[in-house]
Amino acid sequence: MTKKGDNMDVLMLEDVNKSFETELGSLEVLKNINFTIKEGEIVSIIGPSGSGKSTILNIISGLLSPTSGKVITNGEIGYMFQKDHLLEWRTIWKNINLGLEIKKEETLEKQVFLENLLTKYGLIDFKNNYPYELSGGMRQRIALIRTLAIQPSLLLLDEPFSALDYQTRLMVSDDVYQIIKDTNTSAILVTHDISEAIAMSDKIIVLSKRPASIISIHEISIECEERTPLKTRTSKEFREYFDMIWNELNEEK
Ligand code: ADP
Ligand code: MG
Repeated sequence: MTKKGDNMDVLMLEDVNKSFETELGSLEVLKNINFTIKEGEIVSIIGPSGSGKSTILNIISGLLSPTSGKVITNGEIGYMFQKDHLLEWRTIWKNINLGLEIKKEETLEKQVFLENLLTKYGLIDFKNNYPYELSGGMRQRIALIRTLAIQPSLLLLDEPFSALDYQTRLMVSDDVYQIIKDTNTSAILVTHDISEAIAMSDKIIVLSKRPASIISIHEISIECEERTPLKTRTSKEFREYFDMIWNELNEEK
């Protein structure tokens, strides 16, 4: 992988195209997608529903292959879906250890790492509880900690907050942002919420409607003493980014 400045690229997509063969013929979904993600960066992908956002994550994770083009990754990938997929018959502790158990990597060091995450995010007292005993926001944080257990270098988040009510969503996105930044993980967040994308990201990739191509890539720079998603929402730059991206998405219609 190339090294630019201090930060390594953890992901590179080069001229990625994807079509699905269906009964009705070929459905062109992705058209010439190019971008890179650097170490520690949170990048949002925003675009209309059905444009191909989940398809991009599926290709990055290796669940799907591109029709043409190249995906270069560097290290382990953690994938967190819209639904939390917690196993109801396992305790919280057994749920977050699932990945390590499968990989037979339940080392003391990794267990301590997980214990620390649980403590830090106020969930340690629920270690021996079952998923149904937790609120939606808590479940989502557990799902994130489970994904982080394998210490991925890249985290894929597909609309992770969409099942939460607005208030919870704001709180949980602050926590999730902090967890990602504290562990210096790189992340791709798929969302169709412009405000959420600006609040959470270092960079935003705006997609056109299907077949999705990249309309623009915005570097988000917010002047703030300590950047958090909630504080970003009240910054003066927030509105400007919002209007810019809103216009780009609406010119599409
Ligand atoms: P988004 O996540 O942006 O809402 P998706 O990536 O899920 O969009 O889907 C993009 C388009 O590709 C949609 O029209 C969807 O119906 C179609 N699609 C997704 N997966 C498949 C598949 N396995 N076979 C055929 N069509 C698919
Ligand atoms: Mg989707």
